[in-house]
This record gives sequence, C-alpha cells and structure tokens, in this order.
Amino acid sequence: ARTLVLTARAAPVDAARVLLVVDDRSDAVRLDAVRRDFVANTSHELKTPIGAVSLLAEALDSAADDPDQVRRFAARLSAEASRLATLVQQIIEFSRVQGADPLEEAEAVPLDEVVRAAVEHTRVGAESKGVGVVIGKKSHLWTLGDRAMLTTAVQNLVANAIAFSSAGGHVGVGLRSRDGIVEIAVSDQGIGIAEDDLDRVFERFYRTDQARSRSTGGTGLGLSIVKHIAENHGGEARVWSRLGRGSTFTIRLPEIPAPASARTPRREKE
Ligand code: ADP
Repeated sequence: ARTLVLTARAAPVDAARVLLVVDDRSDAVRLDAVRRDFVANTSHELKTPIGAVSLLAEALDSAADDPDQVRRFAARLSAEASRLATLVQQIIEFSRVQGADPLEEAEAVPLDEVVRAAVEHTRVGAESKGVGVVIGKKSHLWTLGDRAMLTTAVQNLVANAIAFSSAGGHVGVGLRSRDGIVEIAVSDQGIGIAEDDLDRVFERFYRTDQARSRSTGGTGLGLSIVKHIAENHGGEARVWSRLGRGSTFTIRLPEIPAPASARTPRREKE
C-alpha cells in the first residue's frame, strides 16, 4: 500500500488560495517499519541467550560446593556467551549490509580469490566436523563490488553447507558464467530443506524446525546477509533443495571482463 501525505497549506500572499502538497512517503514509511521490526526481532532474539547467561550465573553460584556441577554450568555459560557473541556480530554485519545500497567502493573482484578465502575461513569448522570441501577448477571470473562483503556471503553459504552436513559429507563450491551472469554455487548432501520452508530461509531470523532441533548454534541471519549482499551487487541469491537429500545455494552476479592488469598472455599452441 502506498502512503500519500496530503497537506493543505494557506499560501501567505493570497489566503483564499490553498496549496495542496502531495508527498509520496511510501518508501520512507516502509523503511521505518522494516527498521522497527528489525529492532523488535533483534531484542527478542537477544533475550534468550541473555536469560540463559543470567540463569546459569545464578546456578553456578548455588552449586559452589559441587565441583562437577560448577564445571558443567561453566561450560554451558561459556557456550551461551559465545552464542551471544556470534549473534551480536551477525546483527552488526546485517545492519552494515542493509545500509550498503548502493556500494560505496566497488572494485573489480576476482571471484576465484573470493571462493578460496571463504573456504579457507571455514576450514577449521569443516575439519573438526569431518566434512570435505572441494573447490571447482579455476574460472578467472570477475565481478564489480566489495571483495570483503562477497567473501562474507560465500563464507556464510559454505559454513551452512558444513553445519547441515553429516560427518563424512562433501561440500562443493563452483563458479561458472552464462550470458553475462556469474554464478557461485555451494552444494551439499546434507539435511535439505522442506519445500514449504524454501521461500522463507532468506528471511532474517528464520530457521527451519530441522535446524533448530540440530542445535547447530545458528542465528538465522546468515542467509539474509547473503541475500542483501547479492542484491547490493545487482544480483540475487537462490536455493534448490530436497529434504533429506541436500541443497544448492547460488549467488548470481553481473560479470565484468578481467581487468587488463590481471590478464596473463595465453601461451600459443604450436
Ligand atoms: P543459521 O544461522 O540458522 O544457519 P541462516 O540464515 O544461515 O541461519 O539459515 C537459515 C535457515 O536455513 C537455517 O536455520 C536452516 O534451517 C536453513 N538452511 C540454511 N542453509 C542450509 C543448508 N545448507 N542445508 C539445510 N538447511 C539450510
């Protein structure tokens, strides 16, 4: 619905004439509602770990005579504190990408490098879970944008693919281009997503029941960050998935030619 604000003003020179001002504030009103909603959701999401931390602190205090209990409560306290830290960090990241339209400092970004860095950042998690991450062959594809943001987006997809895979699972990260669009695809053979949830996974704080019951410690913000970053770059994020079979998430971006400085002369065939 559009919000039109009609103001009637008496013109100072001629009191008989009335000036009608039509001001289209739809965008401002919508943005305001989005912001209010975000603050409400965020406060709600923060309440759970903060509540847990204060309950555990009380429990710790009353268990002072029992060293085993103290150790158990302390471990849970530390887990809740790190969950809180992740949540706060993702909230900051989310508000950063939400306000980054259009991009302030766009540069030519080599996507092979983005994929390599994103996979490197998730290496410890993949190793500790026993999930193998394989990168497809070098593509020499480029886009225009913010390298750090693009790395965050791919990293979020790879981290999810690892989190929702079982030990021994495989994650594939590939790059290809068609008709001027570069596609970064992250595939897994993990728990998959039910059809009813597919439309909603990019919403902020949305987590499927399967994800909640696995207690992967997620925040529900990762994919909404991915979506914002893709859209800030003039692209989009998509998902294909079958419950119990696995998922493929893609980020599609406008392709640009490799900058001259990055082009290596091809070796001529004899
Ligand atoms: P989270 O922090 O929970 O991973 P995201 O926004 O990244 O939050 O993802 C939202 C939800 O989408 C997840 O909680 C999960 O239900 C679902 N999801 C995301 N990636 C995958 C995947 N690779 N396989 C299965 N489900 C996924």
